[in-house]
Amino acid sequence: MVRVRFAPSPTGKLHVGGARTALYNYMFARHEGGKFLLRIEDTDRERSREEFVRDILEGLRWLGIQWDEDVVYQSQNQERHRHLARKLLEEGKAYLDRYTADEWQQVREKYLAGIRDQAQKKQMERQLILDPPREFRHILERDTGAIRIKVPDEGNIEFEDLIRGKISYPASHISDIVILRSDGSPTYNFAVVVDDALMNITHVIRGDDHIPNTPKQIVIYRALGFPVPEFAHLPMILGPDKKKLSKRHGAASVLEYRDMGILPEALFNFLALLGWAPYPDREVVPPDEMIRLFDIRKVNRNPAVFDSDKLLWINSQYIKAKSEEELAELMKPFVPQEVYSREGAILAARLLKDRVKTLKDFWEYGDYAFTDEFVIEENAYRKHFSGPEVFQRLRILLEEFRKIEEWKEETIEKVLRDTAERLGVKAARLIHPVRIAVSGKKVGPSLFFMLEVLGKDRVIRRIERIMERGTDD
Ligand code: GLU
Repeated sequence: MVRVRFAPSPTGKLHVGGARTALYNYMFARHEGGKFLLRIEDTDRERSREEFVRDILEGLRWLGIQWDEDVVYQSQNQERHRHLARKLLEEGKAYLDRYTADEWQQVREKYLAGIRDQAQKKQMERQLILDPPREFRHILERDTGAIRIKVPDEGNIEFEDLIRGKISYPASHISDIVILRSDGSPTYNFAVVVDDALMNITHVIRGDDHIPNTPKQIVIYRALGFPVPEFAHLPMILGPDKKKLSKRHGAASVLEYRDMGILPEALFNFLALLGWAPYPDREVVPPDEMIRLFDIRKVNRNPAVFDSDKLLWINSQYIKAKSEEELAELMKPFVPQEVYSREGAILAARLLKDRVKTLKDFWEYGDYAFTDEFVIEENAYRKHFSGPEVFQRLRILLEEFRKIEEWKEETIEKVLRDTAERLGVKAARLIHPVRIAVSGKKVGPSLFFMLEVLGKDRVIRRIERIMERGTDD
């Protein structure tokens, strides 16, 4: 059975790159009917933080990436790491490196500087460790040190990457790998192999920055006698400027997207497209369909480009597809509690769902759906309420509006246009002031649609109110 894992180090929040890796593992597991596991790689005690663990778990849950089985914490496996490293030592597959960091630095400067040939360097390193030069001979008396695994000297270390095909490294170029530091802590390459083996991981899917680690990990698997899993290395994610993705390009944590009013399924959809395209001509593909179509072998080798406009567009498509009732709930966290009402939220949804990009926009552009105390854009007011005749015209229009029995878009439009004609002005002379009166904004949904949705009473009340401003002036 397929078993994959996402193995973040809790030294930072769950950023876009990590979330994409988690998502590809998750889609692969679900597609294959396998298991998706989560391992927190918290061996770096200094840099690991509980708050980052929380951010990662919450971010994954929010995205709908649910892991199977209990979360594994790498630090809990430390005894296993030490035990297996010592076992390799006893079996002669690994050896002690007794130098301190300082001493090794001196050795390197003295004996290894200027050696370009990898194979030669590897041999010399091994020799300098096992048979130290005279000035370091005393270190042989030490019975502790780091543990290094012996990397074979002949042949190639190869693997068949599910995305990139065959990748091969000459074994002679890979130096003997430190698996346990002298303080007893495992190195990343060792811990990852032991943990993946303990968790029975069948496929390792991770960023392509890990490609150079893979041959080293294969050496470790073989030395330990564990089955080697399959590997798939995902393409890098670049910013629109083609530089490595950083905080400049996107939010630092996926939870920031939640707080911006992005829907989790929209972010899921967007992240899934960073390196893979289920269709040549369709980009809005909901999570279930993504999972059904997912094919790790079709993932692109070339870097993916992160485009936040595309994310907003995808989000707008998901918003559009939701019912007014659903949106009324979803927008709740973005509307001040004291003005939120379900009725207002339904109005905002009806008015704006085809126009907004985020859930936040419902309040930003639709405060007038919730309350009469909306903000009136001052510059718009000044421009369209510049003289007394504006108020006179509005008074006449208001009378006509009062007479309307069937408060419907078409009727309202007809009444407004007829009134404009009667007054000998362009319809725009009435349209702009009415829009500002009822919504406070220069732009928004089609005016007549908006008036119908807001309802006759509200519209009349708001026109009356703005006219009071005129009498005050
Ligand atoms: N903790 C490692 C990372 O975050 C895991 C790499 C791997 O998947 O092997 O890069």
